[in-house]
Amino acid sequence: MTAKKEIGYCPECDSRIRLNTPRLGQRIQCRECGTALEVVVLTPLELDWAFDDSAYHEGEQRHSRSRSATSGGFEAYDD
Ligand SMILES: [Zn+2]
Repeated sequence: MTAKKEIGYCPECDSRIRLNTPRLGQRIQCRECGTALEVVVLTPLELDWAFDDSAYHEGEQRHSRSRSATSGGFEAYDD
């Protein structure tokens, strides 16, 4: 029998993370690197960094997400 387990990957260290019944927006923590993660897509299961806007490095964290999203040196400015 196949157990209904979803497997996602930590965006920080690429280790596998198994969840029994993942829910959208669920907060989890990577056991390998301790990064706070959030379920952003259910099928297929996809994990992304969970951002706590309050008291979390205070702005230092902001640029990291948009930088990883722009691959190949192309940046879209919506101005
Ligand atoms: Zn990790």
